[in-house]
Amino acid sequence: MSAKNLVTGGISTEGLPREDGFFGEFGGSYIPPRLQDVMDEVTRTYKKIAADPAFIAEFNDLLIHYAGRPSPVYHAKRLSEHAGGAQIYLKREDLNHTGAHKINHCIGEALLARKMGKKKVIAETGAGQHGVALATAAALMGLECDIYMGAIDVAKEAPNVSRMKILGARVIEVTRGTQSLKDAVDAAFEVYLDDPETQLYCIGSAVGPHPFPMIVRDFQSIIGREARGQFMEMTGHLPDVVTACVGGGSNAIGIFSGFLEDTDVELHGVEPAGKGLETGRHAATMTKGSVGVLHGFKSYILQDSQGEPLPVYSIASGLDYPGVGPQHSYLKTIGRVRYETATDAEAVHAFYALSRLEGIIPALESSHAVAYALRHAKELGKDKRILVNLSGRGDKDIDFIMEHYPYEGDVPSL
Ligand SMILES: *Cc1c(COP(=O)(O)O)cnc(C)c1O
Repeated sequence: MSAKNLVTGGISTEGLPREDGFFGEFGGSYIPPRLQDVMDEVTRTYKKIAADPAFIAEFNDLLIHYAGRPSPVYHAKRLSEHAGGAQIYLKREDLNHTGAHKINHCIGEALLARKMGKKKVIAETGAGQHGVALATAAALMGLECDIYMGAIDVAKEAPNVSRMKILGARVIEVTRGTQSLKDAVDAAFEVYLDDPETQLYCIGSAVGPHPFPMIVRDFQSIIGREARGQFMEMTGHLPDVVTACVGGGSNAIGIFSGFLEDTDVELHGVEPAGKGLETGRHAATMTKGSVGVLHGFKSYILQDSQGEPLPVYSIASGLDYPGVGPQHSYLKTIGRVRYETATDAEAVHAFYALSRLEGIIPALESSHAVAYALRHAKELGKDKRILVNLSGRGDKDIDFIMEHYPYEGDVPSL
């Protein structure tokens, strides 16, 4: 069995990335030679381990018995009626253990670390979602876990810091620079470079230098494989459109990879338009960015004329990243995936719509995909079907929503 079978179930992702880590002109690794040696070693070991039937069996077993897979596909009839067009279906990644898709790649990464004989996993985290998912997987595997987090985020995301500590992880506050995600990434990479022998860097999305975008994509592609089979069984058809929110792009590439070869299925990624594309306060990387290098890989990025990443913003902190996974840039360039946007206001509207009409409180990140589905459903006939990847649940967002958008009666229309 090949590494591809582990994750794509025979559904090709066009054989990408190439050996050199590129998806077309995107991806690769723009890193110091010493880190390149470390990455080459991770690539070699990953390819070997991912082709090992024992690894595949253990990964699948944990996804089923620990994470609670398969997550269901649900026909949201009342939400569809509200949209007044195409039928909307949800792939319920919010029902996974820890409440989002991130547990899929964290279990894979921690299992990989253990198979490689590492004692420790390390990672960056922004809002703390990846930190919590990795701390969970580390506890499960009996690995130490160090999470690097900007001081501002540590102060803002107290519940996730508590969760990580309860799970036995060390949270290391990063006080340099902007004291947020970008500096946390830099700090964690430095520590990793100092000691790549005893620890493995476990990145939080389908980003970073090769082989990270491939590894995370592979572990997340379970979403698309499951969804395709479930949808066929439920409706007798493939969906007309599959949509997902795009931050770094892991939940989106996870579901898209199940449908890449189904050329009749349109794939639409949804980027955060924040306060509006014209305001500059957004994180719509592919819609507004240009090609450049960030965090060791080439992709669309939001950058200034010197190639420095621009400050980005979204109501959903998980979408608030100035880059995007290289495979998305490639899929945009070849025209296989269309990238659209949804604003903060649309996301909040969708957050309430799904809560009130279906009894499902979505993460603000996922609410962007729901918002786009509501908008696009109106443009399609009632006989069409849209499948939304509902990447996570909204428990983490309820305090913020009650403070800023406390709608007790009707939700204001857009
Ligand atoms: C982290 C996160 C995202 C954004 O990350 P991707 O890598 O783009 O998937 C989306 N939804 C939820 C619920 C998240 O926690």
